[in-house]
Amino acid sequence: MFSLENQVALVTGAAKGIGKGIASVLVLAGAKVIIADIDEQAGKATAEALGAEFERLDVSDQASCQAAVQAVLDRHERLDILCSNTGIFPQATLDSMSEADWEQVMAVNLRGTFFMVQAALPAMRARRYGRIVITSSITGPITGFPGWAHYGASKAGQLGFMRSAALECARDGITINAVMPGNVLTEGLKAQGEEYLRQMAESVPAKILGEPEDIGHAACFLASPEARYITGQTLVVDGGQVLPESFEA
Ligand code: NAD
Repeated sequence: MFSLENQVALVTGAAKGIGKGIASVLVLAGAKVIIADIDEQAGKATAEALGAEFERLDVSDQASCQAAVQAVLDRHERLDILCSNTGIFPQATLDSMSEADWEQVMAVNLRGTFFMVQAALPAMRARRYGRIVITSSITGPITGFPGWAHYGASKAGQLGFMRSAALECARDGITINAVMPGNVLTEGLKAQGEEYLRQMAESVPAKILGEPEDIGHAACFLASPEARYITGQTLVVDGGQVLPESFEA
């Protein structure tokens, strides 16, 4: 376990799912964690359960992202870690996808990442220290899935953003990396239905779905001081799903 003692970490989309898993591991590592989410009720409940704080924000709204970061700075005077995790994944095939469908996914997944990273940077630059971990996905950058063309584009876009941002911050003691989850059992994934979950588990070499904490441990490593020489990189956490099978075991 890496120690994040005395560090302040903001995790977006942490009321539930992978964000909650990341927040719980960061709390275990000793960080002061702020759960930031649009869902105030669930967010407050999660914060209370984990011994964390809550801050309401809508990542698709730039002013809201800036206000959330400012609220953290007002209380703690520092921000060491940002886990930009929020993402939505509504399905729409190309014959039915509207401009509004496309825009909604881009607004939350891609613009939200930009807004959060941009909001966090001044405080990190001022202390010449920062760890930013973006939750991307294998869907988009590596694989595809019918009905998720907009989602895949947003998740691949996060990586393009991350690589250039990492270069801009490299001299400031700030690293920016991405975790790429495979199929993780969250509320969002459960909403896709039982049959989908069964097929997903079947497609993973280990035949199990990931748990939110599996992503949390990977994010915790990238968020640790020890990961200082890793930036602009991706860490796939998928139970081997994207590995091509060369023979039937
Ligand atoms: P989830 O739906 O379980 O949780 C998402 C959280 O984000 C919720 O608490 C929700 O209230 C919050 N949220 C939604 N819109 C918001 C907004 N505009 N502002 C602030 N908060 C908002 O989702 P999840 O499965 O935990 O996914 C989290 C991240 O992991 C996403 O970026 C997703 O793309 C990525 N991911 C998930 C999986 C998976 O299998 N679950 C796989 C790959 C990548």
